[in-house]
Amino acid sequence: THFGFRDVPEQMKESLVKGVFSSVASSYDVMNDAMSLGIHRLWKDHYVSKLDPHGGLKCLDVAGGTGDIAMRILDHAREKYRDRETSVSMLDINPEMLEEGKKRFAKTMYHNTPQVSFHLGNAEHLEQFADNTFDLYTIAFGIRNCTHPDKVVEEAYRVLKPGGVLSVLEFSNVPNPILSQAYDLWSFNVIPALGHILASDRDSYAYLVESIRRFYKAPEFAEVIRKAGFQVAQNEPWEPLTFGIAAIHTGVKV
Ligand code: SAM
Repeated sequence: THFGFRDVPEQMKESLVKGVFSSVASSYDVMNDAMSLGIHRLWKDHYVSKLDPHGGLKCLDVAGGTGDIAMRILDHAREKYRDRETSVSMLDINPEMLEEGKKRFAKTMYHNTPQVSFHLGNAEHLEQFADNTFDLYTIAFGIRNCTHPDKVVEEAYRVLKPGGVLSVLEFSNVPNPILSQAYDLWSFNVIPALGHILASDRDSYAYLVESIRRFYKAPEFAEVIRKAGFQVAQNEPWEPLTFGIAAIHTGVKV
């Protein structure tokens, strides 16, 4: 069957995305490794060390999934700075993903501490959080699945304190034409096949690939961030990772 995501009416997109992540929640971590040959771990490590969270930072990790970013933030602060004051509020739209995250944190020293909390919600309407609440807003591989990424960025702006940082880790575009062909081959052929073999779910993974292609190109996304009011560095508006397969976009609330 072909997953004609392109033709889906907008109001259906949200429930469809929920469905995709419900059906992949349990196999999610394994698939991430298979699809990216483990590289997503290196990207996430780099993402968090670049942010260098410490000093009792109040963080919000949106589309937190199974907690890859939240865990790295807390580990970084503790291991590098002996900081047990930095905290992460994890938010996800999908209760099953959030459950996996809770299970994972239950095995750690952060369990039942004020350092981590779990929130069910939509990145586009963070009504559970007041204006000017957080020092750091992270969203990793989550914003491209949202119906209105621009609303997500505006909400990020609202909940961040002045001086607070928005940091987005997301798939991006490979500008080099030759590398881009190789990448197309990988993502349009190999990834759906892996989804079929490892998770008996070709369609969800075909959707994931398509959602990557439909997302903003890096310069366009930098503009979305700027338009929401963030200050974006002139010299390096984003940092490409692995030929641009992924990128880190940063904005500072002024
Ligand atoms: N950040 C985690 C990571 O890097 O491993 C999880 C990324 S996972 C690819 C994307 C997550 O975004 C899923 O857990 C999904 O439920 C969540 N998500 C999708 N749309 C969302 C929305 N509108 N609001 C909040 N979370 C959303």
